[in-house]
Amino acid sequence: MTPDISAALNKSHLLWSAASPLKNYCHWRIGGPADYLVEPRSVCETALARRIALDAGIPYLVIGHGSNMLFDDAGYRGMVIRLGGKFAHAYFENNRVYAEAGTWTPALARACASRGLSGLEHAVGIPGNFGGLVFMNGGSMRQNIGDVTAYVDFLDENNEPRRLSAENCEFTYRHSVFQGHNDWIVTGAELRLTQSDADTIRRAMLDVMQERKGKFPLELPNCGSVFSNDADLYAKYGPPGMVIDRAGLKGTRLGGVCVSERHANFIVNTGGATSADVFGLIRIVRHEILERTGFTLKCEVRYAAPDGRCDRLDLFL
Ligand SMILES: Cc1cc2nc3c(=O)[nH]c(=O)nc-3n(C[C@H](O)[C@H](O)[C@H](O)COP(=O)(O)OP(=O)(O)OC[C@H]3O[C@@H](n4cnc5c(N)ncnc54)[C@H](O)[C@@H]3O)c2cc1C
Repeated sequence: MTPDISAALNKSHLLWSAASPLKNYCHWRIGGPADYLVEPRSVCETALARRIALDAGIPYLVIGHGSNMLFDDAGYRGMVIRLGGKFAHAYFENNRVYAEAGTWTPALARACASRGLSGLEHAVGIPGNFGGLVFMNGGSMRQNIGDVTAYVDFLDENNEPRRLSAENCEFTYRHSVFQGHNDWIVTGAELRLTQSDADTIRRAMLDVMQERKGKFPLELPNCGSVFSNDADLYAKYGPPGMVIDRAGLKGTRLGGVCVSERHANFIVNTGGATSADVFGLIRIVRHEILERTGFTLKCEVRYAAPDGRCDRLDLFL
């Protein structure tokens, strides 16, 4: 901790803490302390937090609910800016909804359902925040958030608020333009939905939740699908989970992590897992699948290195 940064944070009236264990801010429940953790309540506070980090010359990382992140056992030597429940308003008008980045995605989906707005049924079980969903272009059942997005608001590298229409967001499978700009911070987005019957939407959501409950190992800490789909792999062998299962890797353990018995594309924390365990098990799985199929699996999950870098986990192997 640097006294100057602490003083600047205190003066700013931002909500912040020092040496916050990142395992409390991610679904895998892994990760050492972040030097600073800030929880902005607005676009202005988000910009201010980043300004303090930049002025102090320390790295910063924006996260949502940490449902697609691996943090390192050594933590993060900089400022983690968490856009969560303190920055989570949603505004409805006719068939449109504008949601702030910290909005909890399942709550947003349910709020749409209760207003008879269809289009987010597929997202009701995705346990992340809205900014992370947009950044990842997340979705399920062959749908992505980009399909119903009108525009995205973000802070650019100069901390200026900007807006991109969906056509310019480069939304493709689990990809958005924001992944190529680590210094762009998604602050909100507008969705255009379809007016429909609230009960029908609710029933569709129940079906989605029921299916996910049966399929996913939700009882142990995990990060959802570790490896992303690959069209060529899919055409030849199937989705990553099936390929890993057929390779007999379900139940493979390393330290505190294990390839889930329920869904082979999930790696679960069976207790006391470390980031090194996750790296090691991912190496084993990738090696086996490469040997058997000739395909190198890419990760959907992202990794934040202690030195400030953050990207797809496999790029750090
Ligand atoms: C049990 C389980 C099931 C899952 N099922 C699905 C699924 O069906 N479909 C799916 O797509 N995903 C799924 N996921 C993965 C994850 O929930 C999604 O990717 C989610 O949208 C990530 O949101 P988050 O807020 O948790 O992002 P985080 O994990 O906090 O961050 C993910 C990435 O986004 C960046 N980021 C986050 N917020 C912002 C922002 N405001 N501005 C700029 N960058 C930002 C972070 O730096 C990081 O690189 C699942 C995860 C779990 C644990």
